[in-house]
Amino acid sequence: MTRKFSVRDGAPADESFFDRQKLISWWDQETISAAKIMVVGAGALGNETIKNLLLLGFRNLLICDFDTIETSNLSRTVLFGPADIGKRKAHVAAERARQMCLSPDSRIASFHGDITSELGLGVFQEMDVVLGCLDNVEARRFVNRACRLVGRPWIDSGINQLAGHVSFYSPTSEVCYECGLSDRQLSLARQRWSCDNVKRLHVQQARAPTVQVTSSIISGIQVQECVKHLCSNGAVAGQRLWFDGASNQFEIFNLRPRQGCEMHASFDRIVDLDLSNSMTVREVLRRLAAAGFGDRPVLDTQGLHPFVAVAGCRLCGKAIDLYRPQHVLTERDLVCDSVHSDEASPEGAGEMPVAKTVLGAFSEATTEARILDMTLADVGVPAADIAAVFDGAGYRYVRLAADIERALAGNA
Ligand SMILES: [Zn+2]
Ligand SMILES: [Zn+2]
Repeated sequence: MTRKFSVRDGAPADESFFDRQKLISWWDQETISAAKIMVVGAGALGNETIKNLLLLGFRNLLICDFDTIETSNLSRTVLFGPADIGKRKAHVAAERARQMCLSPDSRIASFHGDITSELGLGVFQEMDVVLGCLDNVEARRFVNRACRLVGRPWIDSGINQLAGHVSFYSPTSEVCYECGLSDRQLSLARQRWSCDNVKRLHVQQARAPTVQVTSSIISGIQVQECVKHLCSNGAVAGQRLWFDGASNQFEIFNLRPRQGCEMHASFDRIVDLDLSNSMTVREVLRRLAAAGFGDRPVLDTQGLHPFVAVAGCRLCGKAIDLYRPQHVLTERDLVCDSVHSDEASPEGAGEMPVAKTVLGAFSEATTEARILDMTLADVGVPAADIAAVFDGAGYRYVRLAADIERALAGNA
């Protein structure tokens, strides 16, 4: 869709905002205008990336972040001002982006939350490219896995002092982000979580030294790679471009695939069904059976959304009824309340796996009624997620399609 704008009185009527970039022989403004882009992270990198996208004519964005704006962000965030301190990053970034967008038909939404547990895979599937503007390994691992599963490309970026890097990952490439992770990075990625997989009460995340000019350079490269990919002009997957601003050196590394990397799996065929995470587990199972998924379909969350029914107290072993998704549990939930409240802090207590009843699959034959009567949302399945369904013969992949519009609209 091409629109003509009259910028001001006296401007030529046939002049458009994008005339100069369209002079580039391979440029495809219509593709850019139609592309759906998820920007994960609305900090220093995300602000620059969003600004770059908008000026190039992108207009379909989903901006995700779980954080709020702090004073020290403002020297690196072109979309935020002093009046925004304390507000949600994703929400404010989307609001500014709508004002800045050069197209009147923009669709810019924001998601405030933890993408690793609260954003359905079906949302990733809707995107043409996912741009990672993140500062931690855990979120990058999830984006990598999600994009692989649904067959979407993603472009990672990162900054440290005057250096930064950009890597483009194709879902069909033999190398993924996970392939290159060291043991140290993997353990850092787990630091928010205790050995028994609940949130630690106090985690001080390391603050990397960064400066706006580096995020500006790195985001420029990231968005340029995104344009090159969309316009089929030479974005190369499986390489890491590294820039050191102290010495002005660029280097390109070929990333090495890791044999046996478990993150290369993908859902081979995803079927949209009129299902929602607001339905009960029982209703979804019955609808799956009616839709031809066997007499006793099994809904399997593929290890992505573990649900904890019961856990033993870390201090005395007594069973505690939890019936909550694992990602909402903290160390405090694993100590029974009345007995030990004065004598021991739950923090670090035990620090060893406690006996837990964890569910990753649900069926009418094996799952207790109390859980069958909960909604998928209650058991931790996000809106528009994709579930694996065992139909008696094999697995098929089903997207909760009734949620798509709601999920794409964001929540902030
Ligand atoms: Zn890999
Ligand atoms: Zn206890």
